[in-house]
Formats: sequence, C-alpha cells, structure tokens
Amino acid sequence: MTESGTGRKTELKARCVVNTAGPWVNDVIGRVAGLNSRRNVRLVKGSHIIVPKFWEGRQAYLVQNPDKRVIFINPYENDLALIGTTDIPYEGRPEDVKADANEIAYLITSVNRYFKQQLAESDIIHSFSGVRPLYDDNAENPSAVTRDYIFEVDAVDGTAPLLSVFGGKITTFRKLSEHALEKIRPFFPSMKPGWTAKGILPGGDMPKADFEQFLGDLRARYRWLPADLAKHYARLYGTRA
Ligand SMILES: Cc1cc2nc3c(=O)[nH]c(=O)nc-3n(C[C@H](O)[C@H](O)[C@H](O)COP(=O)(O)OP(=O)(O)OC[C@H]3O[C@@H](n4cnc5c(N)ncnc54)[C@H](O)[C@@H]3O)c2cc1C
Repeated sequence: MTESGTGRKTELKARCVVNTAGPWVNDVIGRVAGLNSRRNVRLVKGSHIIVPKFWEGRQAYLVQNPDKRVIFINPYENDLALIGTTDIPYEGRPEDVKADANEIAYLITSVNRYFKQQLAESDIIHSFSGVRPLYDDNAENPSAVTRDYIFEVDAVDGTAPLLSVFGGKITTFRKLSEHALEKIRPFFPSMKPGWTAKGILPGGDMPKADFEQFLGDLRARYRWLPADLAKHYARLYGTRA
C-alpha cells in the first residue's frame, strides 16, 4: 500500500481482502491484486439539485417523465428541496463527475411539468452528482441496467482470497454483506452464522426508538449546542452524537 502524499510504502498482511471500492472496484483488483477481472462495472451518472423548498408540508413527491423515469422531489434539511436524479452513461474518472447543463435542465423541466410554482436555474443553491457502479449486464438503456450485485472471488492456490463486490444499493447493504460472508465462508469454516438481521445499526439504540425524545434529551444535555446543529448530529449519528 502506498500512502498518498508521502509515497511511503507500508506492507499489510491479511487473511482476506474485501474490495468494496464501488466505481473503483476494477482499479483495486488491478492495482492491489494485479489480476484482470472478467467482470466490469458500468458507470451511470446521477445528478441532483437543491433549491429552496417551494411547497407546504413535509411530504415528498415522485413525478414521472415522458421517458418513463421517475424523479423525486424531497424535503431536505429544514427549508430546502432535493431533486433528482438522472441516469447518464459515464466514461470518465468517477472522481471527476459533475452535474451538466442538460441534466439540470431535465430536472427543472420535470418539476415544472407538475408544479404551479415554476423553478428557474437561478433557484439552484447547489448541485451534486455521483456515479452508480452498476454490474455490466450489457443492457442497452442505462436505466435498465441491473441494480443487483455480483461477487467475484479470486483465490490463487494458497493465497488469501480477494472478494470484490460489483454493483449493489444502500437499501440492500445488509443482505449484500450477508451474502459476501457466505462467499468467503469456505476459507473460514469456523465462521459463526449471520446475526445482523436483528442487530441495531450503530447509533440506532435509542430508548423506545423515540427520536424526538432523544433529541430533546440531547439538547437538554448540551444547551450550548445550536438547535439546528444538535438536530443534525442526532439525525446523522444517533446515540453516537
Ligand atoms: C446518483 C445515485 C443515486 C443512488 N440512489 C440510490 C438509492 O436511491 N437507493 C440505494 O439504495 N442506492 C442508491 N445509490 C447507490 C449507492 O449510493 C451505492 O450502492 C452505495 O454507495 C455503494 O456503497 P459502497 O460502499 O459499495 O461503495 P461507495 O459508496 O462507492 O464507496 C467506495 C469507497 O471506496 C473508496 N476507494 C476507492 N478506491 C480505493 C482504494 N484504492 N483504496 C481505498 N479506498 C478506495 C472510495 O473512496 C469510496 O469511499 C445511488 C447512487 C448514486 C450515484
């Protein structure tokens, strides 16, 4: 492993390496293991815009476009709206991705098709973009590429296995992790069974799962913390705030 900045090399030993580098999964296979993967990820860009919230209430909206894609319009933070997303094939470096003018126009048009209040580009406070590392199933339409995940295990005789994850979603992360462990079980026969089905996520162990009560207690304990920041920490980190 080479430390960026210093160029210093450190050698680490592990009985297994799990490669969850997302859009960079093939890069890690190549650079870390020096193997050529048969599989590939297809990068599909998705962009979002943030504007001042323009409707009453906390509800979110889902609107469908003539191209059959749906766009979400979500309340965001306190008084903002998060609008997304797009599905554009992307060939560049994942770290260079940004929302382009066509995507911004597409999102604004999607909203303006359904709402009385019309948005303009000048309403945009911020935009951001990410790339989905989708497993390449050779689908023609980027919206139709599978959102499912695929594993690859490289284990050259006697060496530590390298498990690489292609694709996946946040919503399926727990199942993905369980399946990933099943893939490396043959190398670790005394591995215990999965336990996360009933596990609580880090920071989620709030008494009676009552967020408002938890936030009230946090604010009472740290009176010097601005209210918005207390809420932000509580939402992000839960009991680890
Ligand atoms: C626009 C968009 C919309 C999405 N919408 C949804 C949705 O609605 N629902 C949903 O469930 N999922 C959604 N996803 C998918 C979700 O974001 C991904 O499935 C999820 O982030 C995958 O997590 P990951 O940890 O596998 O990879 P990532 O979050 O991509 O993390 C990979 C990490 O590896 C690191 N890395 C790369 N190379 C190296 C290296 N050489 N050494 C060390 N670290 C390295 C990177 O810095 C990065 O932190 C969306 C994704 C995008 C882009």
